[in-house]
Amino acid sequence: MPDIPAYQECININCQANFDLAQSLVACPKCGCLLDVQYEWDKVKLPKKLSDFSRRWATRENRLDFSGVWRFRELLDFCDDRFKVSQGEGQTLLQRCDGVAEYVGVDKGKLFLQYEGLNPSGSFKDNGMAAAFSHAAMVGARRVACASTGNTSASLARYASAAGMEAIVFVGSGRIAFGKLAQALDYGARTFQVAGDFDDCMARVKEATEALSLYLVNSVNPFRLEGQKTIMLRVLEGMNWEVPDWIVCPGGNLGNSSAFGKMWGELKALGLVKRVPRLAVINSTGAPTLDRLVNSPDTLLRYNGGRFDRAAICRDYQWQDDTNTKPHTIASAIEISKPVNIDKCLRALEICDGVVRAIPDGDIMNAKAQVGIHGLGCEPASAASVAGARLLAEERLISRDERVVCILTGHALKDPNATVGYHTGNYDADHRVEGERLFANMPTPVENDLDAIIKAIETS
Ligand SMILES: *Cc1c(COP(=O)(O)O)cnc(C)c1O
Ligand SMILES: [Zn+2]
Repeated sequence: MPDIPAYQECININCQANFDLAQSLVACPKCGCLLDVQYEWDKVKLPKKLSDFSRRWATRENRLDFSGVWRFRELLDFCDDRFKVSQGEGQTLLQRCDGVAEYVGVDKGKLFLQYEGLNPSGSFKDNGMAAAFSHAAMVGARRVACASTGNTSASLARYASAAGMEAIVFVGSGRIAFGKLAQALDYGARTFQVAGDFDDCMARVKEATEALSLYLVNSVNPFRLEGQKTIMLRVLEGMNWEVPDWIVCPGGNLGNSSAFGKMWGELKALGLVKRVPRLAVINSTGAPTLDRLVNSPDTLLRYNGGRFDRAAICRDYQWQDDTNTKPHTIASAIEISKPVNIDKCLRALEICDGVVRAIPDGDIMNAKAQVGIHGLGCEPASAASVAGARLLAEERLISRDERVVCILTGHALKDPNATVGYHTGNYDADHRVEGERLFANMPTPVENDLDAIIKAIETS
């Protein structure tokens, strides 16, 4: 691939093997670690300042300028323009939300919600798919595969049908939110329900990809994370190019948090920002692997410039197998207990002086109701960010005058069962949640009679 100033590099500091862009790899063939996309920045024609990117709003008839990913293309310059795939992703909104600020416990004007549910398939995954499918097109892939808790398959299915590629998705046989499964089926993906959970699907899809030479678009695909980096650019743009104090996001497979850390590291190194925000990654207490490894006194896992205790991660995953410990949370998008991007996430936590917390499902659902009642709405996993910010404000780690951005990763309509269950108290078996439903909005039964209806409206 001549003329493109990018390559792939193993993130293991003892290996750092390089590979060209023509290869579709999901791990370093030499040592098995994750890969990064890296750039020869001296060959990239960067804008002088980040705000120059905003000019592209004026040329939205150019499909690349219309894309909220490719609008920033110089910062992810791994692909010739003619291969770039776009479905209009990244037309998303940073919304100041004073109601949620009050709930979280920060001052008015300090809390912002980045609603990535507004993407074409309803989740942030589209940012990553735009980038991964562009690489897939560049290498001539025909069959594209993923394992998914739901949103990856919905997004893959949409981009594959648009790109004329065959979509193969593996979902677990347990819970998958119906909105997401509906999308995968409707966009025509060949959908396989594996008798196992997400972590099993992930292991099987890696094997199948190898056996059948499929193109894998899980977040172990380094190109996908390049697309997800741009969420941070849109946050910056929404804040008039001022760096916020905190970015708070849910953590599942840890691709998003990893991409965010990479972006901030690059922006800082390029001199395009003067400082970076702190990062908070939020697990559910039902799937708290990262929280356990980072916060429990016997591991206190840190990146340590790349010299981290890899064996501690292996021991934890082995312990999960030995004790048959399975993740279980209503926030199905983060119901993952062997996160594949954990190495990169540890690096992101180091770059952004990050913290990790785990939140019980009951608190996640109350936070979700707050996001809903203040006008945006989101799916359960997304609300972990708001619940996490609230916990950190309670701990006084986030102070009242700091500017906090919570990433709302998925659309409110993705998981209607969870929402209706919360408001009515009639959770189905898969969605039962402990704890008080503080903001439940129960429907009121009324007679089929105008007087009775008027009375109900005026009194209830
Ligand atoms: C995929 C997903 C997550 C988890 O993101 P990771 O990058 O896997 O940590 C969180 N929320 C939603 C809605 C998702 O679709
Ligand atoms: Zn390597």
